[in-house]
Amino acid sequence: MHCPFCNATDTKVIDSRLVGEGHQVRRRRECTECHERFTTFEGAELVMPRVIKQDGSRQPFDEEKLRGGMLRAVEKRPVSMDQIEQSLSKIKSMVRATGEREIPSELIGNLMMEQLMHLDKVAYIRFASVYRAFEDVSEFGEAIAKLQK
Ligand SMILES: [Zn+2]
Repeated sequence: MHCPFCNATDTKVIDSRLVGEGHQVRRRRECTECHERFTTFEGAELVMPRVIKQDGSRQPFDEEKLRGGMLRAVEKRPVSMDQIEQSLSKIKSMVRATGEREIPSELIGNLMMEQLMHLDKVAYIRFASVYRAFEDVSEFGEAIAKLQK
């Protein structure tokens, strides 16, 4: 790793620790030439599967879209940004854990509903009613029944 200050090629690691729930390594480095210190973050770049939409078209996995959908669902509800981020990282782990290169968008929708059900029941109903666009009242009834369990 080149020193960002003097461009020397030799830097040494003076501290190293795991951050971001262990998915990243934060390293404190010092340049052996100019002795400036700087920090680097290293993480494995995990490839997310592509998403198959209902019309059969494929799209890249879009974390921002997921976050946007969750934020809309929890609007004015007592759910913190931390809880949202935790749910998102759970969804991403589960998506990766499928080991598939392509996954149906429905799977992501279902994972989001699962997370929202734990976070906030009103947010869950909101999301489910939009996402599923409930085809009939009985489906809506099923969702309510799940909540009452
Ligand atoms: Zn330097």
